[in-house]
Amino acid sequence: MARNLITGGAGFIGSHLADHLLELGEQVVIIDNLSTGRFANVEHLEGRPGFECLIDDIRNEALLEDLIRRTDRVFHLAASVGVRLIIQKQTESLINNLVGTELVLRAASRYRRPLLIASTSEVYGKSQKPRFAESDDRLMGPTDTARWAYANSKATDEFLALAYYRETRLPVVIARLFNTVGPRQTGEYGMVIPNFVTQALQGVPVTVYGDGSQTRCFAHVRDVVPALTQLLAHPGSFGQVFNVGCDEEVSIQGLAERVIQKTGSASSILLVPYDKAYPRGFEDMERRVPDLGKIGRHLGYRPRLTLDAILEDVIREVRERGRGAKAGTRPASP
Ligand code: UDP
Repeated sequence: MARNLITGGAGFIGSHLADHLLELGEQVVIIDNLSTGRFANVEHLEGRPGFECLIDDIRNEALLEDLIRRTDRVFHLAASVGVRLIIQKQTESLINNLVGTELVLRAASRYRRPLLIASTSEVYGKSQKPRFAESDDRLMGPTDTARWAYANSKATDEFLALAYYRETRLPVVIARLFNTVGPRQTGEYGMVIPNFVTQALQGVPVTVYGDGSQTRCFAHVRDVVPALTQLLAHPGSFGQVFNVGCDEEVSIQGLAERVIQKTGSASSILLVPYDKAYPRGFEDMERRVPDLGKIGRHLGYRPRLTLDAILEDVIREVRERGRGAKAGTRPASP
């Protein structure tokens, strides 16, 4: 039974990855500092054979090194996630993303542990290409605009990982995650689907930023996590970057309409100008569509779950959470 370490394992994606690996009969150790992760995401796994949860920071170098030494492979998902958080806490988030990843790379290299690094479609920046392929040029804004710091911190992590691969032969693969959604994602950091579903279920206006013509492609986390495990298990993945996501494109206006229809809500749609929705200097992406050709050829990967299936799962979860909170049954996170 292989032993897997997931950094950021109490986060939205990390906790689904833990579920998936345990279902495959593997052992899982997670480390999470609960900065954006939530203990509630993994509470159902407590006491389960083969599962261990450590609430600590990956920048605790001695602990991290010991964990990596005692593990067979590593999924590095711990990061300050999202543009909004980086704009709010610039120094802390940048240092976290850069230093944390370097420590993981160094320890994985020392013990030659296969490593997957979770990166982001943000690294493509404001490129206007209709589909983003892994080897495409990237287009970043200026350094005095904090909005670009997140993309650059993750791109630097990619450079570092590939340098380790070339110089030390560290078996490392990079997964560029496009909009990944599903149950357990919170709307706290501005993510659109949990926000829209919560608004629709509360019967308050659904807030579409800008004119709603911008588009996104949403992948179900249950399609994404098997791709991550398969990427790390495949020896031909190392030293490479792969897009992971879904290419079913929807406008944000269209998404709002679909959420209202699927929840049976009486909510209206409220268009919120960008300067009211975001801090100064923010630029939204018009489109963001992954080219999935590379991962398709490599793993035979195709996302299976449609936007409708995603919305049904999220609506069910938000409804259940609402009922739990009202009945006072939801356990508090430590
Ligand atoms: N968005 C919106 N209303 C919200 C939250 C987000 O219209 O309440 C928009 C946001 O401006 C963006 C899209 O939805 O165009 C996706 O936003 P999210 O933060 O989920 O992901 P990202 O911008 O990173 O793709």
